[in-house]
Amino acid sequence: MTITRFAPSPTGLLHLGNLRTALFNWALARKAGGTFLLRLDDTDPERSRPEFAEAIRADLAWLGLAWDREETQSARLDRYEAAAEALKASGRLYPCWETPEELDRRRKIQRTQGRPPVYDRAALRLTEAEKAELAAQRAPHWRFKLSHERIEWVDGILGEQSIDAASVSDPVLIRADGQVLYTLASAVDDSEMGVTDVVRGADHVTNTAAQIQIIRALGAEPPRFAHHSLLTGPGGEALSKRLGALSLQDLRGQGIEPAAILSLLSRLGSADPVEPRRDLAEIAAGFDLSRFGAAPVKLDPADLGPLTARILHETPFADAAPRLAALGIEGPDAAPFWAAVQGNLGTLAEAAEWWDIAQNGAAPDVDHDDADYVALALSRLPDRPWGPETWKDWTGALKAETGRKGKALFMPLRRALTGRRAGPDMAAFLPLMRGPLPPRGPHG
Ligand code: GLU
Repeated sequence: MTITRFAPSPTGLLHLGNLRTALFNWALARKAGGTFLLRLDDTDPERSRPEFAEAIRADLAWLGLAWDREETQSARLDRYEAAAEALKASGRLYPCWETPEELDRRRKIQRTQGRPPVYDRAALRLTEAEKAELAAQRAPHWRFKLSHERIEWVDGILGEQSIDAASVSDPVLIRADGQVLYTLASAVDDSEMGVTDVVRGADHVTNTAAQIQIIRALGAEPPRFAHHSLLTGPGGEALSKRLGALSLQDLRGQGIEPAAILSLLSRLGSADPVEPRRDLAEIAAGFDLSRFGAAPVKLDPADLGPLTARILHETPFADAAPRLAALGIEGPDAAPFWAAVQGNLGTLAEAAEWWDIAQNGAAPDVDHDDADYVALALSRLPDRPWGPETWKDWTGALKAETGRKGKALFMPLRRALTGRRAGPDMAAFLPLMRGPLPPRGPHG
């Protein structure tokens, strides 16, 4: 049974970077018929906010990335407490009293001596008397005592990994104010929740090394780990600088289709091409972690526009209908209207503009030079009802009468009727035009 989790900290909005993590874990679980957990890593009471948790849920729901169960770290503090006690009892969690300033000073000295800034374990050399003296002054923070050996795993993306534990500082698991840190909480959760696969960003590789030892120290077996590369902007710059423009809420506001985002992120950085896919099951079925590489991945948000358009062009009416109804596009005209306009849409919201033109007409856009032609044409336009042949018959007669052809024949009519220079095929759109027409001149 595959169990994966997406474990955001509810300290901000979802953006394309952390969504990639969500999508990979979701796809792994769905492809395997397993379980996908949403776990809110909210042990930091100052930065975690219920409204961010709510926004994360809303974004995932909008994308269609359904989770099977939700877990909340703040509701599991007793579990972390118990794990911490067990680690203290086995001598793997030890108290330290250094202040941040003291640690900083030591790191600077290490650097000037050309040594890596790894915690020197001074706290382990304190005598009982020294400890008692420090304990009387302030509360300790607690570090996990790494066992100094190579920590190895076969990473689902990076391949064989081997990290020398001696090159890593013993991680702080509990702060002096008692707050349990993510490194411990996540290890406890992953083992107690039976998580089998963890996919997360390459910035977590060092955490993984520590967490493998923590999980083993707690008597469990670590999950499989995979670390995806980080996304950069199109010029290779850190994506985080552009986060404002890339929050899912912003993309949604721009009319980007959720399927466009998923189609792009499920393939970008893999050996497989990006293809527009509307079907979540297909996205999951086509997902293959082993096709992804270790190199940073360039993401150009501009790619989402054309993907959105292609997805809309392929969306059958039955799938679009509920969203069209929400835009007020319903009734017997809705299906032929969708068929007429979908191939021209850049965003779904544009459908509402065309619906308004169909229902209510548009301010005509007529060049001075075309005014006579347009007036003549309107006088030749048969009375409603119009059918699929009306446009062809009408423009055919106008061609014969005026000698105009091509763009000169059609464009003034499109502009007079819709107020636009581009848009849906007029043969299909004209019969759906229910609104008032531009005034007809005295021709004939
Ligand atoms: N809350 C952590 C983060 O957002 C989770 C990392 C993980 O997947 O373990 O970075």
